[in-house]
Amino acid sequence: MAFDVEAVRAEFPILQRQVNGHPLVYLDSAASAQKPQAVISAMSRAMETSYANVHRGLHTLANETTEAFEQARASVARFIGAETDEVVFTKGATEAINLVAAGVGARLQAGDEILLTQMEHHANIVPWHFLRERLGVVLRFAPVTDTGELDLAAMGEMIGPRTRVVAFSHMSNVLGTINPAAEIIAMAKAAGALTLVDGCQAVVHQMVDVKALDANFYVFSGHKLYGPTGIGVLYGKRERLEELPPYQGGGEMIATVTEDAITYADSPHRFEAGTPAIIEAIGLGAAIEWLNGLDRPAIAAHESALYARVLDQLSGANWLRVIGEAPGKGAILSFTMEGAHAHDVAQILDRYGVAVRAGAHCAEPLMRRFGVTSSARASFGLYNTEAEADAFAAALFKTQTFFG
Ligand code: PMP
Repeated sequence: MAFDVEAVRAEFPILQRQVNGHPLVYLDSAASAQKPQAVISAMSRAMETSYANVHRGLHTLANETTEAFEQARASVARFIGAETDEVVFTKGATEAINLVAAGVGARLQAGDEILLTQMEHHANIVPWHFLRERLGVVLRFAPVTDTGELDLAAMGEMIGPRTRVVAFSHMSNVLGTINPAAEIIAMAKAAGALTLVDGCQAVVHQMVDVKALDANFYVFSGHKLYGPTGIGVLYGKRERLEELPPYQGGGEMIATVTEDAITYADSPHRFEAGTPAIIEAIGLGAAIEWLNGLDRPAIAAHESALYARVLDQLSGANWLRVIGEAPGKGAILSFTMEGAHAHDVAQILDRYGVAVRAGAHCAEPLMRRFGVTSSARASFGLYNTEAEADAFAAALFKTQTFFG
């Protein structure tokens, strides 16, 4: 299977639009990706033709919607190599991590350690800080090297007899670094620690097999995977999910309720209190099935080539500092421009139709590690073209003239 970027691009209606008189160059896919027509249509088709609440109906529409919702779960499971009942739908990666942290926290004591890394998104820091505040658990952060790699030797030494959880991102949303997840999981497992992998970025750009990784928990959001917002995934190994207490209480997650007792439904439903994001789950299923029809290794190669092309064009720019140069990294370019605030860089690029993100990227410890308060970030998706890479590099040179 080959990858035809122009054909794929044509499936994204929004990419036709102009911004400030220029064709849109969307380089913010790491924050949220645009949606192909297949996803948009699947969601509107569901609302137009067969919609009702799931799981509790005896009528046709309820049964059809339940079937579509559960098929989406099956698509997710196949996509990451999990069993269907190991896939919990959440609001997003953030909710998935909060769910695990709250559940695991119920068994932790003061002095227990959670090992994170300096390159975590706040979504994989703050829920663990709650446990520090409430229980006195100790957070430790594995260091990141100057090139933006995890210092694995140091990380290994930080895993000790009090380590209860090792939680880390599979791919950094700032550096683009792809971490050796299987190796880290093996180290954690040898010490008897639970593992949680934040796969928000990785799952978009590479094939993920949670069983091969041997992760206890793996989380991601739908909206970065060309799917809708409001839906995310918590994968948990069946026996790990079974030992987690429920996160929220309400309908759908119970087996029985009396005035003085409750019993819970089995997972995954035990973790899905209330009416779930039905249409969004269907949209995520459609995004995954759409991606399954593409040559994903070819897409990864395409994105890497765009990244290399931009770097090459910027190679003479001595006013540019690239943050994150790990070998084999993904197509995320974080940078600072001498004399300019990242917000100004992003706003001027926008005048040329180029959309990039700027700020701390919800990764303040990482920013501090690199001695900056913010950076600009261009992140590539499968729909970006060589012409767009060139337009971005050219717009960056023009932007620099405002500050040079
Ligand atoms: N982790 C990483 C690595 C991310 O990039 C993001 C989104 N920026 C998140 C977690 C949080 O995802 P969400 O906001 O969709 O819950």
